[in-house]
Amino acid sequence: MYRNPLKKTIEYVKGCGPERAKTLQAELGIFRYEDLLNHFPFRYVDRSKYYSIREIRSTAAEIQLKGQIVSIQDINQGKVKRTVAKFQDGTGTLELTWFKITKWQREKLQNDIFKEIVVYGKLKEFNGNYSIVHPEIETIEDAKQAPQGLFPVYSSTEKLQKKGISNRIIQKMVTAIFDEHIKIEENIPQNLIQHFKLMSREQAYKTIHFPPNLDDLKQAENRLKFEEFFFLNMSMLSQKIQNKAKNKSNPFQLIGDYFNTFYNHHLPFELTGAQKRVIKEIRLDLKHPAQMNRLLQGDVGSGKTMVALLSMLIALDNGFQAALIAPTEILAQQHYNSIVEMLGEMNVEVALLTGSVTKKKREPILENLLSGKLHIIIGTHALLEDTVQFHNLGLSIIDEQHRFGVAQRAKFWRKAKLPPHILVMTATPIPRTLSMTMYGDLDVSIIDELPQGRKPIKTLSKTDAHRLQLFDFMKKEIEKGRQVYVVYPLIEESEKLDLKDLMDGFESVTRHFPLPQYAVGIVHGKQKAKDKEFEMQRFKRGETQILVATTVIEVGVNVPNASVMIIENSERFGLSQLHQLRGRVGRGAEQSYCILMVGGKLNPISQRRIEAMCETNDGFQLAEIDLELRGPGDMMGTQQSGVLDFKIADITKDKKILQAARTCVEHILKHDPNLMLPEHLNMRNFFIDNFKEKVGWSQIS
Ligand code: ADP
Ligand code: MG
Repeated sequence: MYRNPLKKTIEYVKGCGPERAKTLQAELGIFRYEDLLNHFPFRYVDRSKYYSIREIRSTAAEIQLKGQIVSIQDINQGKVKRTVAKFQDGTGTLELTWFKITKWQREKLQNDIFKEIVVYGKLKEFNGNYSIVHPEIETIEDAKQAPQGLFPVYSSTEKLQKKGISNRIIQKMVTAIFDEHIKIEENIPQNLIQHFKLMSREQAYKTIHFPPNLDDLKQAENRLKFEEFFFLNMSMLSQKIQNKAKNKSNPFQLIGDYFNTFYNHHLPFELTGAQKRVIKEIRLDLKHPAQMNRLLQGDVGSGKTMVALLSMLIALDNGFQAALIAPTEILAQQHYNSIVEMLGEMNVEVALLTGSVTKKKREPILENLLSGKLHIIIGTHALLEDTVQFHNLGLSIIDEQHRFGVAQRAKFWRKAKLPPHILVMTATPIPRTLSMTMYGDLDVSIIDELPQGRKPIKTLSKTDAHRLQLFDFMKKEIEKGRQVYVVYPLIEESEKLDLKDLMDGFESVTRHFPLPQYAVGIVHGKQKAKDKEFEMQRFKRGETQILVATTVIEVGVNVPNASVMIIENSERFGLSQLHQLRGRVGRGAEQSYCILMVGGKLNPISQRRIEAMCETNDGFQLAEIDLELRGPGDMMGTQQSGVLDFKIADITKDKKILQAARTCVEHILKHDPNLMLPEHLNMRNFFIDNFKEKVGWSQIS
């Protein structure tokens, strides 16, 4: 049996022992040797240089100083206790400060007074005086023995400080591990190491902790980032291979009357090349007895609904039912309407099931669903309820994925004897790096082409000073027969205020666009579903020219005659939301406009968002910018950000490394799915050691 010495518990490291081990476990989750090695420094101090107090100009850097403590004072100011030591180096004086100093630290400090010491830490400036808060202190002798060059600084906690586990002690323990000469096995195949000129694993670990210079540090970082992405992808992709082998579903081998009749006689438009390609990809998946798990990405307005419908017809051709689930009632209703309309005379039974469908209407729907009389059901979360039982559900389509969690996706599986095929459609594009890491276990189809004849939407940003001009512009568009959305933010914390904004806005618009010449509608989340629907329908039928609304209209709403989208306080919206909202116009043949109203001075991030919106209509490009501005965790919502906890890699900055690692893993798994080749032995051992639980590879170990 293969034993890895890096799995030894941390207490056996020289200088650790059981007491410290306990603290390290509790505070930093460090249990084993390898955990300590993976506790990378979060910054480095340049120990090749001593600064003098006189030359300090800025607080930007971490510095080290040589000198003496000349006095110590304990100060009690109300609740805040601090200890301040005066430190001199012959060129000046600065303060060393501790808040809530421990007894142990206080004694040590007393002991250090008037001795030649080395102090290092980050400078702070208080009222023009420099100070180092919670500095690290060493004797000159110790400092001489410390590694020269870039000196590692590890993240710490108050408890660690209290227990006397200083930065220097952690650093000594790391050194002690290296001194044991445990071999750090390479885990990436030799040919890749050579091809990408990667630093060896052992060298990288030594260098990340004790870099001799910045160039080597960079190389070590790159190597460790590659490794991190490499095994993440291996875990995702091997999971995918296993799912395919394990998760059976019903093969849809027939393309029959439903599909062909619709395709040949009912298509309302020529499909775009991208739509055709994606449908082909889906058809191929559905043919196989393995369950389809596919993510369909396409920009706003790229025509995902048509792809959904054609996929459902394939299910029907094979004698199965299909379900389409949407995040809001409005959207479910709209899918229902447009699908019923597209199907026209065809003999397909479609029903809509949402929370507001009455019990009386619900019962026959549930019955027909169970008997198999219904072919397609469209709805909201209501479809996930236990009372919703199918005769034979063969395909589930989930629209606007990001509002559904993984758990909800799984609920659908239990609604059929064999789990249905799953197609997930996103509302807006997700950056490639994110979809690779977050949905690495799904196959991905991309619609990267908009239907022909769409004019790009013109986007402008305006302030309140342009208000009258804006009203004139709206009047002109309405005269041409167009319709206008005016959208207000609605954010939960300040719901009351937001609602007031919305109402004030509505009043101001009705004042400028009075009856009987104009009609203005209003839609918001506090309305009953019935009233919302009523207002939406009025707008859709063109009975109102202006619709004042909150973001309830964000997702998917389709009124091709609307050509102006005005977004109030646009700086308060996220980028993907702005893009979604903009996507409500530009759906007809007319030139459309998106006006971003901004109030007051913008912070640099909102500024960048607004600029990005004005620069491009490309959702894929905006998604990339959004990722850079917000970071991955924020972008996908905290509940899903767990997989994005990287040790060192950063998917926004290290895209190239991610892509390279991904390609390598794909290649390896294609030729050696069980990692049985002798040149893959180390990689396999490492993978099983570290990912076995996650991947469920028990059968191969
Ligand atoms: P999304 O991908 O945002 O869900 P939709 O499916 O709602 O987009 O499609 C947006 C609009 O484009 C709809 O009005 C739809 O009928 C139309 N559409 C879809 N595909 C095509 C096409 N190939 N040619 C012309 N219009 C299309
Ligand atoms: Mg849609």
